[in-house]
Amino acid sequence: MTDLELPGITSSSRPRAARPPRHWADLDGAQRRDEVVGSGLPAFRADQISRRYFGQDDAEPDAWSELSVPLRRDVGDRLLPPLLTEVAAQSCDGGDTVKSVWRLTGGALVESVVMAYPKRVTACVSSQAGCGIGCPFCATGQQGLTRNLTTAEIVEQVRMARRLASSGAFAGSPDHLTNIVFMGMGEPLANYRALVAALHRILDPQPLGFGMSARNITVSTVGLVPRMLQLAEEGMPVTLALSLHAPDDELRDTLVPINHRWPVTEVLAAADAYAASTGRRYSVEYALIRDINDQPDRARELGRILSGRLTHLNLIPLNPTPGSPWTAADPDVQEEFVHLVREQGVAVTVRDTRGREIDGACGQLAAALED
Ligand code: SF4
Repeated sequence: MTDLELPGITSSSRPRAARPPRHWADLDGAQRRDEVVGSGLPAFRADQISRRYFGQDDAEPDAWSELSVPLRRDVGDRLLPPLLTEVAAQSCDGGDTVKSVWRLTGGALVESVVMAYPKRVTACVSSQAGCGIGCPFCATGQQGLTRNLTTAEIVEQVRMARRLASSGAFAGSPDHLTNIVFMGMGEPLANYRALVAALHRILDPQPLGFGMSARNITVSTVGLVPRMLQLAEEGMPVTLALSLHAPDDELRDTLVPINHRWPVTEVLAAADAYAASTGRRYSVEYALIRDINDQPDRARELGRILSGRLTHLNLIPLNPTPGSPWTAADPDVQEEFVHLVREQGVAVTVRDTRGREIDGACGQLAAALED
């Protein structure tokens, strides 16, 4: 099954966007060596380029003293073409949250966010421009899918976040990027091959990749069951975050339309299989939406179906989209909801609401700029 053949994943009617040029981060180690040798260069040049790119987060060969001046230009033009152009950046939370909007080849816009905390600096990255899942409460879901990001477009978001984190921008936080969550625009498992290749670039030891720890990487999904099972076999024990949003099929069919294809029991079984295969506890994400999925009965049902599983519940107070009737549950309703789920022995956390001041819901800022 190719990435486009998954049932229920639709693209918008927009014309197909231009494809970006091939980039160093699209290639694995063997392909990089083949590339430089095929260009008539000695194989060690591949290591030199990777040490700069993955070891120093540097993609500007103009200043690379180990290369001759003509070679610097050639490497820049052929192997490190610019893929992301920043068209907007906003910060809030006292400068500890920075959201960037990037223009891709062909004009589509995507977002990434860097959030600094006392003990970690987390990047939230996009895997698709737009999204074909169509969750009605989500700004990105209203845009439809423009196109999948390439491996290098995903990796470049990570590299930019690493540069920001190590630039001294976040006093009182680690001086480097520690965590990555694939919770930006798009459904990561609907762009499976690029996602897995990007995970290799993120996890592979330097200079093959950035050398980050799998336990600090989280991949979210609405529950593309075949891909969840496939990811479990990749040998990369990243944390899985399952976006459930409703404990019953009747409601989930409306909030996450792909539930018609893979209902609640199936996605939970796949998440259990992922946990069994990787040994990693998964999280269940639940956007708490006023008068939609915040009732006490739903809290009890959610607690019942999660009880005894290797998981914890992460409640997300919905970040409202302007003009949308969907909004966050009242604080006292949220408190009661947490209490009722915990009563059934399920661990619950409530996600902080970083980025509220800056069109913080995924896709909101990019959507505003598209208008
Ligand atoms: S919530 Fe996630 S899966 Fe649903 S439309 Fe938005 S980006 Fe897509």
